[in-house]
Amino acid sequence: MRIADIYRKDIWNQVAYLGEDNDLRSVIGDTIGRLPDDALLLAADRCVFVSVGRTVEGMTLPGDVLQRVDEDDPTWLILLDDRIMDTKEADDVESVIAHEIAHAFLGHNRMTDDGDRSVEIATCKLVREWGFEGSGTDESRHH
Ligand SMILES: [Zn+2]
Repeated sequence: MRIADIYRKDIWNQVAYLGEDNDLRSVIGDTIGRLPDDALLLAADRCVFVSVGRTVEGMTLPGDVLQRVDEDDPTWLILLDDRIMDTKEADDVESVIAHEIAHAFLGHNRMTDDGDRSVEIATCKLVREWGFEGSGTDESRHH
């Protein structure tokens, strides 16, 4: 069995989610399950998702939650406002999550790329290629 198929079968347990919103955890799993193999592997193995807002207002985490520091194969921390679960349709939530995964997939670094419109255009294009529709594909609304 290919590694991507193994992840796909057990996606719920593969999602690294630090938060308390199980609805959002479920949507993150659904989103990752829709990704092509290469993006699925990155999202399941190299991305850590964190959210606050709906279930908790704040959270304190140990600084070593991202233990794997490897410049050639970095781990990505994806921050989400879990109130998107209340304000957006399910498909739209998936497109927002896919958008953030796409930034990681493309190697964008928010600490250095912020404000570069070409980064958003490339990200939204990839999210559309992955088959998502919604605000995660709208260059004018995203960062
Ligand atoms: Zn963006």
